[in-house]
Amino acid sequence: MKIQFLGAAGEVTGSRHSVELTLGGRKTRFMVDFGMFQGGREATAKNLEPLPFSPKEIDFVVLTHAHIDHSGLLPRLCAQGFLGPIYCTDASFELLKILLPDSAHLQHSDVDRAERRQKAGKWRGELPVALYSMEEAELALAQCEVLAYGKQIELCKGINLEFQNAGHILGSAIAILDITEDQSKKKRCVFSGDIGMKGRLLMPNPAIISQADVVIVESTYGDRLHKTLADTEAELIQVVTSTMNTHGNIVIPAFAVGRTQEILFLLIDLVRRNLLPHLSIWVDSPMATAATHLTQHFFAQLDQESQSTFEWFKNNPSAVDLRFIADVDESKALNKIKGGAIIISASGMCDAGRIVHHLKNNLPRAQNAIVITGFQAYGSLGRRLVDKATKVRLFGEEVPVRASIHTIGGLSAHADQAGLLEWLQGFEVAPQSVFVVHGEPEASAVLGEVIREELGWKNVIIPERLHTYAC
Ligand SMILES: [Zn+2]
Repeated sequence: MKIQFLGAAGEVTGSRHSVELTLGGRKTRFMVDFGMFQGGREATAKNLEPLPFSPKEIDFVVLTHAHIDHSGLLPRLCAQGFLGPIYCTDASFELLKILLPDSAHLQHSDVDRAERRQKAGKWRGELPVALYSMEEAELALAQCEVLAYGKQIELCKGINLEFQNAGHILGSAIAILDITEDQSKKKRCVFSGDIGMKGRLLMPNPAIISQADVVIVESTYGDRLHKTLADTEAELIQVVTSTMNTHGNIVIPAFAVGRTQEILFLLIDLVRRNLLPHLSIWVDSPMATAATHLTQHFFAQLDQESQSTFEWFKNNPSAVDLRFIADVDESKALNKIKGGAIIISASGMCDAGRIVHHLKNNLPRAQNAIVITGFQAYGSLGRRLVDKATKVRLFGEEVPVRASIHTIGGLSAHADQAGLLEWLQGFEVAPQSVFVVHGEPEASAVLGEVIREELGWKNVIIPERLHTYAC
């Protein structure tokens, strides 16, 4: 059996791993994840790069979760001739129905905007390229086959698949593949996907797997530890209480899927525990609204504590005034609220979407607070705010930054180094090989070293992109 790492090797995006083996004398190939590279021109080039084999050669795809960096190139793969099934969990499938068409839409609006600017003589350099159309996104969805957590299915003679909850986002899965290749004994390959942080809100703890021959583990935070949830709560209570006391608004930029629901649950839970007073919360992002409804729909897949918070809120609906903004007019009406509102909106890095309007409206007033809850990439508006910009340019206008800017750490959807180690310690016997992927080079290298030293595992590999490894 051979594994080729086509992405998420030396970086955190573009997860796609090809597994090649011989079954019944026939070459079989499948992919685990088929994600998009994100961030900058280099990512665009990698997204357009042809595969080192024909898409028609792929028998099936196993998808660990719906995040675009794991799923975002599936429509392109299907459009290029992959006709097989895409196995995913039920919640991942529902999230894909939101995320893939949205991704197609975003790509096309980027192209349209660039073309308009080029016509007006305001665009230099190459135009962006749309990787697939809305129709192609729909076609990929038609190839999805849903598999419940904990159910094992035979994908073909010699390969069985089981999903276990990875505790990362709704529907996220660890993929367990039992493979019996010609002339060899059964081997168990465990792909971690993205592993969630134990003891966090909403998602259950990642499932512990006790046996594997080959492990492919993520390492996003392989070199650091997160703040505790208690510290995160204390920071949030402090900002909310002081801003409400001075009659300001709180604006929280948040990714629509995952982070928005996490913040909502955290705020509601703090009200339930009498640590915050009655709150007025507006969620202003159509995608966040859809993802929040999905989270309610998959209530049984949430952790026990979040289920009881949710039950409590159902029985005490007046404790939090929670409203989902439907249209642009309603969104604009929020501009009239001068104090006492918590506005959660996307995009998470403040570069696009309705959040930009809320920032323009709320940044100039000193009694308001902006609460940053996620990673802000270099060059993004969110990063400029974190880096204490005193003014920013929004919609061609200079906007003074007088509101206070707060960064609340500790809400990561990824396990930290201790969490990853704890998950790996679940394997009772050292696997034959461990591949450390999905991390910046430093994070993967540090985690690899810690696995060798603390767990005493010998064969720990940090794979290089496009390289093939026998296992
Ligand atoms: Zn993810």
